[in-house]
Amino acid sequence: MANLTCKDYGFECGYVTEGEEGDVVDSFRDHMETEHGIEYSREAILQFIMRKQGL
Ligand SMILES: [Zn+2]
Repeated sequence: MANLTCKDYGFECGYVTEGEEGDVVDSFRDHMETEHGIEYSREAILQFIMRKQGL
């Protein structure tokens, strides 16, 4: 399980996504692109998850 909270990355936004790592990556990526107009690579978002988990 993984989760990401949009406001942890500097946005005034209440978006939170939680679930299987691959699903979190895809949904967070989609949210960033559609809501904030920023494109992150899957690798970049995987890094966010790993950092959050302290790996
Ligand atoms: Zn957001």
